[in-house]
Amino acid sequence: MGATTHLGLTGGIGSGKSTVANCLRDLGAAVVDADAISRSVTAAGGAAIGPIAIEFGEAYITSEGALDRDKMRILAYADPGARKRLEAIVHPLVGHETLRQAAVATASGYPCIVFDIPLLVESPRWRKTLHQVLVVDCTPAVQIERVMARNGLERNAVEKIIATQASRAKRLQAADIVIFNEQIKMDQLALEVAQAGRRFGLSSS
Ligand code: ADP
Repeated sequence: MGATTHLGLTGGIGSGKSTVANCLRDLGAAVVDADAISRSVTAAGGAAIGPIAIEFGEAYITSEGALDRDKMRILAYADPGARKRLEAIVHPLVGHETLRQAAVATASGYPCIVFDIPLLVESPRWRKTLHQVLVVDCTPAVQIERVMARNGLERNAVEKIIATQASRAKRLQAADIVIFNEQIKMDQLALEVAQAGRRFGLSSS
C-alpha cells in the first residue's frame, strides 16, 4: 500500500479499544489519541484554558491553571448549553492538534495512522477524514464486567456511561472492519489485529 492509511478506531468503553490501539502501535502504526489530546488542551497551559476562562470565568480554572473538571461537570449537568459552549472551544482545538500529529506521522513515513476516537460514531465530522473504520466490539455484559474490574466502579455507574455512548448496533453500522473481542484471550486478539493490520500495510515481522 503506497499512501498512508487513515484508520478510525473506536469501540464502547471496555470493548478493548485501547488494547487494540496498543497492538496496532506494536505493528508499526502511529496512534493519534483523541482523548489524550482532549485532556492535554484542558490541562495546565493547554490551548483551551484562555478561551475557557473568558467564556466561563476564572472560577472554572484551578490554581494550577487547568480546567476544573469537577466544577465543569456540575455546571454541564445542570446546564446542557454549557456543555455545548465548552465543546465549541475544545473540539476545534482537538481537531487542529489531531491533524498536526497526523501530518507529523505522515511526514515520518508511517504506513498507517490510527485515529483512536472513543466517540467516533457520536461525532460524524470525523468520518470524512478516515479511509476505514475499525470497531472493537463485545456485548454490554462483558463491557460492564471489564470496566467494573478495571476501574473499580459499580455496575450502575458503568451502565450509565454505556447509556451515554452510541448503541452497539449504531457502532457496528459505522464499521468497515469489526473485531469481536469476547471469549478470546489477549494473544488471540493480538493475532486478529495483526491479520486486520495487513490490509493497512502493517506487519508483525
Ligand atoms: P477500552 O479502551 O475499550 O475501554 P481496554 O482496552 O482498556 O478497553 O480493555 C478493558 C479491560 O479489559 C482492560 O483491563 C483490558 O486489559 C481487558 N481486556 C481487553 N480485552 C481483553 C481480552 N480479550 N481478554 C481479557 N481481558 C481483556
